[in-house]
Amino acid sequence: MGQDTDIIALVGARDRGHALLEALLGIPRIEVRYVFDADPAAPGVLLARQNGICCRSDGRFDELSADADVDLILETTGEPEVLAALQTSKHPNSCLLCAAGVRTLSHVLAELTDVVARANVEKARYLRQASHQIKSPLSSIQSYVNVILGGYTGELPERTREIMEKIHSRCDAALDALAKRRMLADLRCIDRDGLEMSTVHLSEAISEAVDRHAALADERGIEIRLLPHDGPDLVDCDPQKVATLLAELLQNALIYSYDHGLVEVSVKAQRDGRLAVSIRDHGIGIPARCLPRIFDEDYRADPAVKHHQDGAGLGLTIAREIADLHQFHLAAEGEEGKGSVFTLTVPPAPTA
Ligand code: ADP
Repeated sequence: MGQDTDIIALVGARDRGHALLEALLGIPRIEVRYVFDADPAAPGVLLARQNGICCRSDGRFDELSADADVDLILETTGEPEVLAALQTSKHPNSCLLCAAGVRTLSHVLAELTDVVARANVEKARYLRQASHQIKSPLSSIQSYVNVILGGYTGELPERTREIMEKIHSRCDAALDALAKRRMLADLRCIDRDGLEMSTVHLSEAISEAVDRHAALADERGIEIRLLPHDGPDLVDCDPQKVATLLAELLQNALIYSYDHGLVEVSVKAQRDGRLAVSIRDHGIGIPARCLPRIFDEDYRADPAVKHHQDGAGLGLTIAREIADLHQFHLAAEGEEGKGSVFTLTVPPAPTA
């Protein structure tokens, strides 16, 4: 097996293959690198393409003989001739699991998914209760601080004012973290059926998100440049959740920019027809060693902690969760000290 990531090839992408792919995509340190199915419109092939996985539909398995990094081949069709072809074409390093073994694996995964779903519901319930208990005292501390800062208890020495302002902003950060923690827990309790889908113009959703961040940008003298997109831009999504996702990316681009910096936002049609939304900043960037972890819950890279103390390490986890629910693809690139670019790739709404 690979040192950090297990690499899998999936053969057969109808119901079982599709369900298996959905489950595998949600597991960290597993990479599904290839999907094979004779039907290019099989549901698993479509899902694989949305996730940038290499797909093949001509009945050949050339990649499997050449790629020594594939740890496991999952054969889901149960067709003897497919199994025979795989046995002869696979690389000797790869382990081949036949349909009966895959069936058992699917049952185990389904059982684990159920356990995780029940744990998520319990966690969300607990968080709702706990956050209710913590939110009220934090909000009243803020109200008292506002009274003091407003001068209603008398003139404040400069140092006391500074401390009061810090208390206020730390309370703000704690309330924000609490709201995000709850949102994440709630998102983990729903599946695709829990989304309130409609068809929207992506450019409009983006320009609304940009408008909502204008004040934050102005405060730091940062320009948000929205590059025009003239082509078709209709997408199927849950507009509120996508607005949250875009807000997380924009907020980060502003927070991790230097004062008087530039954030560029664009939508472009890719060759495969999908729309790519890019949010590029020229700020502190992300060290290569931190990139693989930035979507993890509670993770903050050290340059980010130095630049901005009050982060919660939850925004990108929420963004990734929303992208996954929609089966959109969200990726990050960055270079320390040079800036970052986050790209959300979205399939266009089917035309009538
Ligand atoms: P937070 O911003 O509250 O720390 P996020 O989950 O939004 O949490 O982001 C996780 C981490 O990813 C950040 O702490 C930072 O290290 C990195 N990051 C996210 N967006 C950017 C960006 N635009 N530029 C540089 N680093 C970023």
